[in-house]
Amino acid sequence: MPPTDRTAGADAPALQPLVTHGRHVMTVCNACRYCEQFCPVFPAIEARLTFAAADLSYLANLCHNCGECLYACQYAPPHEFGINVPRTLAEIRLRSYEEYCWPRAFGAAFGASGTLPALALAAGLTLLMFAAAWTMNGDVLGPANPAGDFYAVVPHAVMVALFGSVGLFVLTALGAGTIRFWRDVHRGAVTGVTVATLQRGLREAMTLRHLHTTGVDCTAAEEVRTPWRRWFHHCTSYGFMLSFASTLVAAIYHTIFGWHAPYAYSSLPVVLGTLGGAGLLAGPAGLFVLRRRRDPALGDPAQQGLDESFIALLFLTSLTGLLLLGLRDRAVMAPLLIVHLGVVLALFLTLPYGKFVHGFYRTAALIKYAIETAARPELRSPPDTR
Ligand code: SF4
Ligand code: SF4
Repeated sequence: MPPTDRTAGADAPALQPLVTHGRHVMTVCNACRYCEQFCPVFPAIEARLTFAAADLSYLANLCHNCGECLYACQYAPPHEFGINVPRTLAEIRLRSYEEYCWPRAFGAAFGASGTLPALALAAGLTLLMFAAAWTMNGDVLGPANPAGDFYAVVPHAVMVALFGSVGLFVLTALGAGTIRFWRDVHRGAVTGVTVATLQRGLREAMTLRHLHTTGVDCTAAEEVRTPWRRWFHHCTSYGFMLSFASTLVAAIYHTIFGWHAPYAYSSLPVVLGTLGGAGLLAGPAGLFVLRRRRDPALGDPAQQGLDESFIALLFLTSLTGLLLLGLRDRAVMAPLLIVHLGVVLALFLTLPYGKFVHGFYRTAALIKYAIETAARPELRSPPDTR
């Protein structure tokens, strides 16, 4: 079945120039093929003769923005063809986030993201929580609070109700967005999905194999390659997963075994949380510095707010969490807990409408690529030369 070009519809005239330019770039690359061994994007381009909007969304999320193909390109600006694959795909990627998100009316949030609005949201939620805690029992915010007892400040039932409902909404929004993306780019929704293709897609997502396309390190500028973008990305994503695991283990301790916080510094939830927190300090801080030093031609300047607001909330979540752990026996624990919860709540609420979604769409795109190459072995996959 030929792909439907949704951008031909009356609902997307604003996207037409971006889609038209994307097609121009893909068509030139398809004829040139110089970069075909750089990453999966180029074999995936070669597998197509025409490029519907859904194909462009797929290619955009398959790109890791390593930058290699810009410096290799003989048609890059100032050439009249103006080929800049990393930037073009970054622009299309942002549009794909807006288009597939759930509810779709919230799509504008991606473009409006910024560090200041994110910090304002965290501050507003913190103030609301302070007001709620003060209204319920002002004494718990003072030094009279039993040392280290978080639930004396915010009752366990309130935490579960608040973060449980927000978490459910976040999971629903992220799941719905990923399903929309998958259905659009892979129209036979389950065709070709096997254990092997799932494994390959997940492995390549978890190892960031295509962030260092030619087998050496990620590009930061012309002839400048360093491993840091990969390592800081790993610190961030694995730090996030360890922190999530810590919360999960603590919930199991509480509800199944009846073991209540505060837990010992040597306990599993605290060890996981400390390791995750360290990763979420080092990773976002490093990515922030690298972003500022990276060649601006490699990215979409319009997405600075999207990237940096996510980085800022991750960093603050970790910072306040580690401070809370270190000072949980001090009088400052109660206000620190409220600040931490306000920041975490802001992070959660912005997850489906921020940079976080790229992990889901990119993993789905890598699984689709594994399906394509399994069905068409003649598509040459970039060698893993690490
Ligand atoms: S990015 Fe440039 S060099 Fe690479 S395939 Fe496309 S047109 Fe050719
Ligand atoms: S992953 Fe790298 S080489 Fe591949 S399209 Fe993106 S920027 Fe170019």
